[in-house]
Order: sequence, then C-alpha cells, then structure tokens
Amino acid sequence: MDPAWLKSKRKEFKSWMTDEDRRMGLDRAITAYRAAREYALATLPELEQIRKEVRKIKERSIESMQDLVKGAMENIELVHGHAYLAKDAKGARRIFSKLVGEDKLVVKSKSLVSDEILLNELLEEQGNRVYETDLGEFIIQLRKEKPTHLLNPAVHVPKEEVAKTFSKLVGRRVGADIPTLVGVAREFLRDKFCTADVGITGANVVAANTGTLFVIENEGNARFVSNAPPVHICVTGIDKVVPTLSDAFKVVQVLPPYATGILMSAYVSMITSPSRTADIEKTLVYGAHGPKELHVIFMDNGRTEMFKDPVFREALYCLRCGGCMYECPVYRVLGGSFGHNYFGGIGIIWSAFTAGEENAAAAADACTKCAKCKETCPVDIDVPKMVEHLKQRLIRKGYLAPKHEEIKKSILKKGHPFGQ
Ligand code: SF4
Repeated sequence: MDPAWLKSKRKEFKSWMTDEDRRMGLDRAITAYRAAREYALATLPELEQIRKEVRKIKERSIESMQDLVKGAMENIELVHGHAYLAKDAKGARRIFSKLVGEDKLVVKSKSLVSDEILLNELLEEQGNRVYETDLGEFIIQLRKEKPTHLLNPAVHVPKEEVAKTFSKLVGRRVGADIPTLVGVAREFLRDKFCTADVGITGANVVAANTGTLFVIENEGNARFVSNAPPVHICVTGIDKVVPTLSDAFKVVQVLPPYATGILMSAYVSMITSPSRTADIEKTLVYGAHGPKELHVIFMDNGRTEMFKDPVFREALYCLRCGGCMYECPVYRVLGGSFGHNYFGGIGIIWSAFTAGEENAAAAADACTKCAKCKETCPVDIDVPKMVEHLKQRLIRKGYLAPKHEEIKKSILKKGHPFGQ
C-alpha cells in the first residue's frame, strides 16, 4: 500500500495526466512562451553578459543575506516605513493578523511568499474580503483552484474555461474571446482598487542600501494595489535583497525576457517609503496621494536552512522567472501537480524547505534529471543536482515508494534488484 505522502500525490498526478483541457491550456502557453523568449533573447544580445553579472550579484547577496536584510530594514524604518522579520509562516501570519485586522477590503497582487503562509485563507477567516487582482490569480481564486506556475498561475486554464468562470461571476454569457475576458476582469476589479483598505504586494527584488522595493509587472494591478489603498503591506523573502540599487536594476533587466519573453515589463514600481510631500514650507509630511503607511515583512521560512547546505544554497539564487518550467518535460505532463506551493524542479526544492519535505517527496521522484531546466536558467542553477541531493536525503528519512523499497531490500539481500 502506498504511504500517505505518495497516495494523495499519485491521485493529483493522474488527474493532471488525464485532463485534456488543462493539457491544452499548458501546451498553448508553452508554445507562445518559447517563441516570445527566443525573440527577446535575440533582440537583446547584451543579456548574455548581464545574466552572468546577476549570478555573481546573487552569489554575493546570499553570502551576506542576514546583513543585507538588516540594512534594508533599517533604511525602510528611516523613511517612515515599518519593517518586520518573520522567522516562519506562523510568525508572518501573526504580523498580518495584527496589521490587517477584521472586516477590511483587501486587494492583492501576485505573491508567491503569501502562498507560503496561506494568507488569503487567514484574512478571510478574520472576516476580510480579499481580491486577487493579477488576472491569472483572479481566475484561480474564482475557480477555487491552486496556482500551477510561478508566474502564470492560470497557465493551464484555456479561454473557454475562463469564459465559463467569468459568465458565472457577472451573471451573463461571456464569449471565449481573450480581449473580452480581460475587459470583464478590468471592469469587475476597477472599484475594488480605489475602495480597498489595504493593498498587499510582493517584491521581486529589494535594494538594501536604500530599502527600495522593486515590483515588476505588466497588468498595472500591482501599481494600483501598492498605491491606491491607504495601507500598503509588502511581503517578500529574505533571499530577494541585493546590496545596491544598481544591482537591483540588473535583476530587473533579466527577469522580463526570461519570465515572459518580453523585452521589458510594462511597469516597474520602485517603492521606498509611504507617500510624502514637503511642498508646504519644506515641511515633510508622510501620507500624500499614495499610502499613508508602508509595512514590509521579510520572510525567512526555511531560507536560512537552505543557506546552511552548500548544495541547496544555490536555490536561493532563483529569480522566480519560471522559464525553466516551460522547458521541463515532466511539468508539461504533470503541470501544477509537479511541486506543491512552488512548481517545477526548482519548485521541488522550494516546496521542501517552505512547506515540508513530505510535500515534495513524490515530485522529487518524478524528476527525470534531464537537466533541461539547468540549460535554460538565466543564473545557471543546477536544479537536477539539488533534486538528486534532496532525494537522497528523503530516502534516508524513509520516503521511499513501496516498489523502490522492494528493490532496495533485494539489492541488500541478494546483491541485485530483481527479486526472485
Ligand atoms: S531535470 Fe527534472 S525539473 Fe529539470 S527539466 Fe528535467 S525533469 Fe524537469
């Protein structure tokens, strides 16, 4: 009989392998992404050098991660922001509970770190209304599904299915025409931005020397979320901090072409403090047209543990572009079941450290170690090496499929894997 960690995952694998709609959605997205990225890399040949520089920046940053976070926090506080360090998901939930309170309207832009702490569930339990505003996240939220890609959470949902979901939302028939579907989301979410009490975003990179948060996006929703409500809360990982603004700009140049195959994102917001003005008698006042309060939560949640192991440390260099997933043959078949809260090969490592090894064991078994992800990674992360390292660790802890257990016993007893 399969152990619990394997049983539930096998079911999930099977449901992905047999769901034609989800496979069709994934196939369409992968084809479109590959063509776009090829064009972007050919158009920006200088990226080859910049991505190598970014690898070096990440190596240096992770080496002094704790000091950089301390510096970023001090600089945020200096300009009237509030900075917090959450040791784990529980700690982050406590901070959010206090900051958001009850009965609030909350708008959110996409944040993988918020998924680590099951933030939406927490806020809703406290009687808040929470709206995801990234189109993909919004679709997933309405369909009560799990995201399936680091950057494109609804990558598996074909337009026909989105049309059904939106028709239900607005109470009229919406056609499966993509611009129309985008228009429905725009219309529905418009007033939520301006009436929300709290806006929650992540940050793609943080510059320690100024405490500046960089939020990279295309839809314009993160700008609204971080700007329209009176309170902005940003939650990000301690691995996202780099020493200087110039370092952060390098990351900003690499992310969009590798993440979505575009030359540059439509918007890059740089946020250093709550809104402020000194226009009357040069007297500085915080709280002008933008948020009056800025709170930044830095999450550890397994990252320091990752740092301690020289093999897993490399996972902290990940920029979360998600490009590797489009090249992974296993992700193409298993989609969102190939991982837990993070997906693909790199997602197996991140899931193990942020959500527990039992949630990553079955996916680690499914990786073929083909190294397609390594070839495509802009910062040259050796994902298969880490997956192998994790697998060995998991086996030592007893995460072994029954068939593998049988083979192991046979080798130990008879010197070969073939039973009788
Ligand atoms: S090594 Fe594993 S995670 Fe990477 S592309 Fe191959 S199957 Fe996917």
